[in-house]
Amino acid sequence: MNKRDYYDILGVSKNADEKEIKSAFRKLAKKYHPDVSKEPDAAEKFKEAQEAYAVLSDPTKRQQYDQFGHAAFDQMNGGAGFDFSDFDFSDIFSDLFGSNFGFGRGRSSSNRARRGADRVMRVRISFNEAVFGTKKTISTEIYDTCEECHGKGGKGEKTCPTCHGTGTVTTEQRTLFGSFMSRTTCSTCKGNGVTYSSSCSKCGGTGKIRRKVDLEVKVPAGVDTGNQLRMAGKGDAGVNGGPNGDLYLEFQVEDHPLFIRDDNDIYLELPITITDAVLGCKREIPTLEGNVKLVIPAGSHDGDKHRLKGKGIVGLHSGRHGNMYVILKIIVPDKLSRDQKKLFEQLAKTNLESGSEFNKINDYLKKNR
Ligand SMILES: [Zn+2]
Ligand SMILES: [Zn+2]
Repeated sequence: MNKRDYYDILGVSKNADEKEIKSAFRKLAKKYHPDVSKEPDAAEKFKEAQEAYAVLSDPTKRQQYDQFGHAAFDQMNGGAGFDFSDFDFSDIFSDLFGSNFGFGRGRSSSNRARRGADRVMRVRISFNEAVFGTKKTISTEIYDTCEECHGKGGKGEKTCPTCHGTGTVTTEQRTLFGSFMSRTTCSTCKGNGVTYSSSCSKCGGTGKIRRKVDLEVKVPAGVDTGNQLRMAGKGDAGVNGGPNGDLYLEFQVEDHPLFIRDDNDIYLELPITITDAVLGCKREIPTLEGNVKLVIPAGSHDGDKHRLKGKGIVGLHSGRHGNMYVILKIIVPDKLSRDQKKLFEQLAKTNLESGSEFNKINDYLKKNR
């Protein structure tokens, strides 16, 4: 599919603000509206502009578009791109063409099946649950089809007497472009073509019921903060028999008391004593799969990094093992016992100043004395 860039269609820059986007769209709408334009490809151009405006005027959709391009909406609509048929253009068209201008809702039949809304829900999980995966029961609320009226909103269905079932009424419109006939949504049946003898008491005529549901969720091993899991069909109920929307679970992983995660690698800061650093030692350390012994060689330095290959997290998509890194942190004691102090004093009398760092400053001092 070779779709044009939404910003190009409206002729605005990528960082155009709301006002610029709105005014660019108004200009195009005036020019290409099929009922007023004489250009041969007006309908196409108009549709294109509508779609671009429906996306760019919505901050969330705009962000998705900026990030993923047209692909952001292709996935949701089976490759058909962004579906703007539910978008309410009435505020723009009413001041352009008069309040009852027959566009959008009036023309697109409202009783067509529509997909329910997608939902995003944040789910907090522990560090270990994220690393190893888990099964969880998650409670959420969704808009489900009212079973009392089967989503119709009323009982005793009759063909609408006002529009005779078409869902639209034709009226004469006077606008700044002159007078012409236009079709508007039938206000009696709101475009459904049918009326009901009584409104459904259970859902208040909306056809939808807010319902609490418990979902069994299998959290895959390796998820990280921000990863989303799609629960197909677990979003809001569709309209007029349309499919349900999807529910997206967005994970938020809690911190571990010791490990710091960076993608699939984990870091552990290991405190060691001066003598352990100087003489070397063996230390028990925690890993994701139990405790192990780490050999710290004599002459270790603060910040030395030990890699434990493959002891990190198994990647969610790659399946590859990350690494674990142990960073040494030499702790200088705040307090010494009398014996310890004596030993350090004895040690101080021996010459510990060896190595190029000491030579460099000592030579410099000597030369400039
Ligand atoms: Zn109902
Ligand atoms: Zn009607």
